[in-house]
Amino acid sequence: MGDQVGAGTGDRDGGLVGRLLAAIRGRPPAAPTPRLIGERAVVAGGSIAGTLAARVLSEWYREVVVVDRDEVLGAVGPRRGASHAVHAHGLHARGYGILAELFPNLLEDARELGLPVRDFGLMRWYFDGRPMYRTETGLLSIAGNRPVLENYLRTRVAELPNVTYRQSTELLGLLSSPDRSRVTGVRLVERGEGKQAFEVGADLVVDATGRGSRLPVWLAELGYERPTEERMTIGLAYTTRTYRRPPGTFDGPMAINPVASPAHPRGAFFGQTATGDVRLSLTGILGDHPPTDPDGYQEYVRSLPVPDIYQAVEHAEPTSAPMSFTFPASVWRHYERLSRFPAGLVVLGDAVCSFNPVYGQGMTAAAMQITALRRHLARDVAADPRPFLRDVARLMIDPWRISTRGDLDFPGVVAPRPLRTRIYNAYLRRVQYASTKDPEVTRAYMRFAGLIDRPRELWRFRLLARVLWLSRDMPAPSARTPAAPARERVAAALVKADRVDT
Ligand SMILES: Cc1cc2nc3c(=O)[nH]c(=O)nc-3n(C[C@H](O)[C@H](O)[C@H](O)COP(=O)(O)OP(=O)(O)OC[C@H]3O[C@@H](n4cnc5c(N)ncnc54)[C@H](O)[C@@H]3O)c2cc1C
Repeated sequence: MGDQVGAGTGDRDGGLVGRLLAAIRGRPPAAPTPRLIGERAVVAGGSIAGTLAARVLSEWYREVVVVDRDEVLGAVGPRRGASHAVHAHGLHARGYGILAELFPNLLEDARELGLPVRDFGLMRWYFDGRPMYRTETGLLSIAGNRPVLENYLRTRVAELPNVTYRQSTELLGLLSSPDRSRVTGVRLVERGEGKQAFEVGADLVVDATGRGSRLPVWLAELGYERPTEERMTIGLAYTTRTYRRPPGTFDGPMAINPVASPAHPRGAFFGQTATGDVRLSLTGILGDHPPTDPDGYQEYVRSLPVPDIYQAVEHAEPTSAPMSFTFPASVWRHYERLSRFPAGLVVLGDAVCSFNPVYGQGMTAAAMQITALRRHLARDVAADPRPFLRDVARLMIDPWRISTRGDLDFPGVVAPRPLRTRIYNAYLRRVQYASTKDPEVTRAYMRFAGLIDRPRELWRFRLLARVLWLSRDMPAPSARTPAAPARERVAAALVKADRVDT
């Protein structure tokens, strides 16, 4: 395997001085030296973002309390607060690199847990039904079971002497100073009949309660504005089923992922789980949702643009019923645009920005935000969280554009398409087409999709020329894009995208 992206990617966005020094020294800037800056930090939400936040906060606060409404410690299966976690989840190379910095034994431990750790470029990706040219990229990704990965991270963090998890405990609201300029703690309640709400003071409160975060409401109650929201409505659903691994499938560490495209809007992620079963997540957009009845599910598998998955599961023994998760829209809450924001409060993860999951960015986006949090802790983020929120927004621009521009490639998505978006999408289709022929294009594409390189790297002259040459025989869009089926057209009429910065 070539050079693997691991330690070193996490602090790629270090401050200017850090980056300059790093460039001079030829290595990434070190994380700021921790010191004690407060007595207690409370993190609401003990999933991916909250757990990673607790990991870095433990270096700066005497005590870190993580609150989750679920019984999270030891949870490796479905749970109410993160019901999406049972569907296919892959951690992108950038996220892997950040996690490997925070959890130095990650690679060995993940393999021991049975989580497939793979080179991104050796998976079987399909674009428009054509297989991507498989090649080593040196970019690692962890897949398998999101709950198992999440539980591993949480177990490590819960072992830290100054971190406590308060499980089955719900965040009810925020406490503030009399002038409401500062958040001073949280109001909580244990789940169960007749439990009384109680208060916990904190120097810093972190909202990592995911997409359903009530922070906009709580800010309004404290007299602040609610953040503006950008939305890209996609009407997506995942339906997932597990099977006993059919003999001969995945003898190498591979996944089979036909990516949805305008010509083939039905997609799938098919891979191994940590228990040795296989998991098949089917995806459908604009209301064309994969069914949950076994026969309908099987028919949907048959309709995928590559026959391999149907052949693998046709006679396989299911180990679960099909389960569905609907995802109406990507949402970005622009906290960084608020003119006033209380001290002592930050917000992270899906609570800020939740992306169409088919691009596999959410966990990596949370990890990227954690690198920013780590830097801002050195500057006392609690005193003024706004520079941190601005940094988070800056970090979210690329993943947001990748996700929303990708969605806009589907004719049924109703939203304006600026010229630059149309050019970008036309070129990206060529990149994907060229990546079915050429390892160099595969490597460049995987660095882009894995959030290692910025999208502009795809436009470098040498690569651009190579892509245009290799895609000179690409079929015209009209030949590739069938007319939208009636069901899709009806769904599209119902689906309206709000303003999106593309
Ligand atoms: C179907 C699907 C597939 C996906 N696939 C991928 C993928 O392949 N790769 C990837 O990187 N990302 C993927 N994602 C995105 C990823 O799951 C999210 O980005 C990630 O879970 C965000 O983590 P989070 O910690 O911000 O929020 P969540 O995981 O949503 O966690 C929020 C936590 O807060 C708790 N909570 C909520 N409210 C309260 C409250 N009031 N009090 C106390 N606790 C509370 C919940 O119990 C939960 O534990 C996918 C998402 C979906 C829906």
